[in-house]
Amino acid sequence: MPGFDTIIGQTRPVRTLTRLLARGTLPHALLFTGIEGVGKKTAATAVAMACNCLRRGAEAGRDGSEPSGAVCGECAACRKIAAGTHPDVRHLAPDGGMIKIDRIRELCGFLGMKPYEARTRVVIIAEAQSMNPAAANALLKMLEEPPPQTVLILTAGQAADVLPTVVSRCRQIHFGPIARQDLAAILVRDLAIDPQQAAHAAALAGGSVTRAVAMHSGQGLRRRAWLKAQLAELPRQTPLGLLALAEKLARERGDVEGDLEIVATWLRDAAIARHCPESMIHADERGAIQAAAVGFEDHAVAEAIDALQAAVRKLRANANPRLTLEALFIRLAGSLRPSPPDADG
Ligand SMILES: [Zn+2]
Repeated sequence: MPGFDTIIGQTRPVRTLTRLLARGTLPHALLFTGIEGVGKKTAATAVAMACNCLRRGAEAGRDGSEPSGAVCGECAACRKIAAGTHPDVRHLAPDGGMIKIDRIRELCGFLGMKPYEARTRVVIIAEAQSMNPAAANALLKMLEEPPPQTVLILTAGQAADVLPTVVSRCRQIHFGPIARQDLAAILVRDLAIDPQQAAHAAALAGGSVTRAVAMHSGQGLRRRAWLKAQLAELPRQTPLGLLALAEKLARERGDVEGDLEIVATWLRDAAIARHCPESMIHADERGAIQAAAVGFEDHAVAEAIDALQAAVRKLRANANPRLTLEALFIRLAGSLRPSPPDADG
């Protein structure tokens, strides 16, 4: 059953939202930020339910006895919202990588009419950073003159990706990466997998349910094997080979940040393999990492991890992926190149 009760590992944002709901001070526009797979959409759905549940929503928080934000999960409103069929709860998501102005205009038309049955209409705009400037400006007009009985919830990786004038009119609520144990608990609950497998997938997922599910499905493990092979080849690559690898990763438009995180945790494991193998993240690959670690110098690994983190920061700030990855791979190849046998290190 959806609702705030089912959100694991996001205590702070959930507390903020339930308080706003209980006090009746929910702003008309919210911006949920955080990486993919940390519960932003689930929380948006929970807000829609809390605003419209026919049994619990109305009295929630009034006498202090009812947990605020509580929903029954069973009434007609709750069921329709959970199924995505409530006529007053709209979902907008990028189409072909972009949210265009037509969609926002159509939304304005919808909000110009009275609600069909809801107390509060909820519009969820996923990946708000993919609104083109025309769409963002059309939305801005709506935020300046908010339609009655309406809550707009935007989601984005980070506020910096969204037009500042839009951000300034929203109450921002951040969803951090989910702690490893919480993530494992979610996998056990939602995928019914055994706790050990869940713990393993959670350790490789960087706090994201989406990535943890990919890891568990094997897709992530295949990706990791491929990345590991590329990493092993990196010091021997020609400059042209490094540029080609950067182009390949940038062109695939996959989860580049997730890829870099896998490489970073792999190198971190190599750095600690000798001293505290029990803390390794890629515990299933312990032997291979310990073998690889012999060829790495500690300071070189530290340098490589710094370079990876710097690249992730640049990508988050919308730097050109291909150029960022080119510079990164050239640095990594330099750091991880084994020193000549006579230069004792
Ligand atoms: Zn209900």
